[in-house]
Amino acid sequence: MKVAEDHAVYFNYKLTNDQGEVLDSSEGSDPLAYLHGHGNIIPGLEEAMVDKEQGAEFDVEIPPAKAYGEQNDELIQKVPKNLFQDAPNLEPGMQFQAQTPQGPHVFTVKEVDDNEVTIDGNHMLAGETLHFHIEITEVREASDEEKEHGHIHGAGGHQH
Ligand code: ZN
Repeated sequence: MKVAEDHAVYFNYKLTNDQGEVLDSSEGSDPLAYLHGHGNIIPGLEEAMVDKEQGAEFDVEIPPAKAYGEQNDELIQKVPKNLFQDAPNLEPGMQFQAQTPQGPHVFTVKEVDDNEVTIDGNHMLAGETLHFHIEITEVREASDEEKEHGHIHGAGGHQH
């Protein structure tokens, strides 16, 4: 069966950056599962999946615009350090989740000064060209319930 709208797709992946460093991989765990055509994975990868057969193995390079976007300098801000009084060992690289009008958002601490903290709200992979190696392990038609929910159920998908 081929990947198409409203199909459940199971795949193994290895993600590397331009330098060839492995950023993420499904090795050692179950294949990832998603419902095709619902924006559940990054746009560039969803496009690359179209019409691929079960069992297909391929490489795809995805520019930032079709992955996690370009770095946005407006998302880098200085905030008063006293906002972090619950985190006494604050250091660069730490991540926090904040409530924003657009919903929960993860940001990373870039710099800690005496009175100010520089935080970066960009996705960790913003600005990166992503290189995926993909192996599609299974393609099946989604159930009516999965289509209604907009995600798939069972191993690799939602448990509920
Ligand atoms: Zn569901």
